Amino acid sequence: MDFKPAIQKDKHQKALILGPCSAESQQQLTRIIEDSASLNPDFIRAGVWKPRTRPGHFQGIGEGALRWFKELKKQYPVKFCTEVANAYHVEACLEAGVDALWIGARTTVNPFYVQEIADALKGVDIPVLIKNPINPDLFLWLGAIERIHRSGIGRIAAIHRGFSFFGNSVYRNVPRWQIPIELKRRLPDLQLIADISHISGSPERLLEIAQIAMDLNYNGLMVETHPDPQSALSDSDQQITLDFLTKNILAKLIQRNPISNDQIYNQKIESIRKEIDLIDQEIIQLLGKRMQLAENIGSEKKENNISILQPERWNEIIQRLKEIAQQEQLSEEFVFSLIEAIHIESIQHQSRKMNS
Ligand code: PEP
Ligand code: MN
Repeated sequence: MDFKPAIQKDKHQKALILGPCSAESQQQLTRIIEDSASLNPDFIRAGVWKPRTRPGHFQGIGEGALRWFKELKKQYPVKFCTEVANAYHVEACLEAGVDALWIGARTTVNPFYVQEIADALKGVDIPVLIKNPINPDLFLWLGAIERIHRSGIGRIAAIHRGFSFFGNSVYRNVPRWQIPIELKRRLPDLQLIADISHISGSPERLLEIAQIAMDLNYNGLMVETHPDPQSALSDSDQQITLDFLTKNILAKLIQRNPISNDQIYNQKIESIRKEIDLIDQEIIQLLGKRMQLAENIGSEKKENNISILQPERWNEIIQRLKEIAQQEQLSEEFVFSLIEAIHIESIQHQSRKMNS
């Protein structure tokens, strides 16, 4: 798939999309536009139809907000983008002259809706930003990008907004950076934007997430901003003022270059990478050995008719590794997901042996 940039930028310049979770009033949008003028945002984002997880919450102003966009575009040199979830939304946005559309996480999961949007976009030339699906499924994300691309849209970007999970996390939506990294490996020309607000869920972690995104060569950021976050009608916990964005995030972000021409630096990196490659190889070979042992256990269990999952043993493994993780300065979250993956593979090996 060939893509054209959804957001026109010089090579190392980063895109900035900012604005409220929801369009609430023309005054609110006017303030955002005026206060953000010096930041020169590429798009002002503002939700018109809001997909609320549970009923009874503010569901957006609807088409009335599109009239505010139209009015404000007459007064200011500004571009708006908003979320579309069906053909009706697309048509209303095109009619109102909205500059770019985004497909939300709750829509990317559903190929019927994505296809409906793709069909409504046939013959239209507008940038479309596609958020990751709420569940950590790379292929649903890729599938949505492919459906929109097939409808003839060339200006596509992906927005990484994190993934739903069950349990505790410091994030509202866990980033699972490996998924956007894999997306970018498969589609190197596709622009990738980090929606740091929906990953973080609060102002505290925005800088940390934005810095990781910059260090991973993302093409830009989407940030929810509101003149008065506390009074916001949706996502009030995570929205920030433009002052906060300027002073506490943009001013502190370190921009880095993707590559260097310095020979000494390149040699050093190459030698460290060789060591890393060796370690990765050893890790995989060790895992192979571990699975062999799991199969041996499988044979023994089969003979004695014992079930595969032994909750006490599993608990013991987790507790032991948590302690080692701490000594090795590895995060508990990482070690837990690693050992979980190993455990699942191990169960599969045992089960193959036991049911053969
Ligand atoms: C939003 O951007 O306000 C939104 C609803 O996003 P998501 O689809 O990522 O939840
Ligand atoms: Mn939001």
